[in-house]
Amino acid sequence: MLFRRLSLRLSAGLIGSVLLVVAGCGGSGSSTQEGSGAGTADADAQQVYRWKLITTWPKNLPALGMGPERLADLLRVMSSGRLDIKVYGAGELVGAFEVFDAVAQGTSEMGHGAAYYWRGKIPVAAMFSTVPFGMNAQEMNGWLHYGGGMDLWRELYEPFGLVPFACGNSGVQMAGWFNREINSLADLQGLKMRIPGLGGEVLKRAGGVPVSLPGGEVFTALQTGAIDATEWVGPYNDLALGLYSAARYYYYPGWHEPGPTLEAIVNKKAWDSLPPDLQAMIQAATRMINEDMLSEFTARNNAALRTLVDEHAVELRKLPDDVVARLRELSTQVVAEMAESDPLARRIHDSYTEFALGVRDYHRISEQAYLDAR
Ligand code: CA
Repeated sequence: MLFRRLSLRLSAGLIGSVLLVVAGCGGSGSSTQEGSGAGTADADAQQVYRWKLITTWPKNLPALGMGPERLADLLRVMSSGRLDIKVYGAGELVGAFEVFDAVAQGTSEMGHGAAYYWRGKIPVAAMFSTVPFGMNAQEMNGWLHYGGGMDLWRELYEPFGLVPFACGNSGVQMAGWFNREINSLADLQGLKMRIPGLGGEVLKRAGGVPVSLPGGEVFTALQTGAIDATEWVGPYNDLALGLYSAARYYYYPGWHEPGPTLEAIVNKKAWDSLPPDLQAMIQAATRMINEDMLSEFTARNNAALRTLVDEHAVELRKLPDDVVARLRELSTQVVAEMAESDPLARRIHDSYTEFALGVRDYHRISEQAYLDAR
């Protein structure tokens, strides 16, 4: 059933992408193929690649966790079973925050998560996930696929033996779940909050205490009072985690995650071992899941929000303007510092910010003007 649905979604546009990818896949896989006799080529076409895909998400979590599941299903169908990928939730093979290292070491061939989880190892990686007050999903996709972002991301992960792909996006998130009201900047002082990425650093500078926790541990930490607040995703995913029963106030807007890109990472040696048609399928399927997840969130967030408010008596609140203004100021500092760690980080920072400023100017008179006008 799922296969049928996914197959039907392979639009003409996506097939166009596949053709482009095949044309651009002149890597080692393709040269091996060219040098092979017909018998070897037949053997390549028969070979089954059985891979493990480890994720940072609880197994089968709606949307975020279903991205890698659908990716594996889609690749199995596209490849007629030649690429057979088994998906593992966080903690089944390795912990959520061990995914990057495990795929780099080849323990698993593939991983799914978010680049900001690796900020402790590669600070600038966070920019490939999301930047506070930065680009939204549509703009991130523009930068990654047509603005040079993807090339820089590959360059950043290359020394770790990893090949990254954009593979999912939630759209603008919610500011999160709070057990205390946020009426002024003073209310952020000492606030112990689960918030990853650059947003966590911004909260720290605003006087809060950012905590890093994988999704599977968020509910318990909030319920037991180990943390005062948490951000997670948005209504659809937050409803699935049951966060409404552990906190009273649900704040917006998601200043810290305006359209986070999720990543699929592939071990470079495993990638190089694939024939070019299977490489092209991974390129196309990750691109499809990148779009598919955003569509699912867009379709389901509103109904989930109504359930939260109407059935679970969640109090929806907007962060005060002065709090947002201060967080924006601090974000500017944090993002500027991204450029300082090394030359590649500077190139990534400069590419991101130049693209973001340009697209923002245009979107003022297009997307934003339209949203204000309708
Ligand atoms: Ca989040």
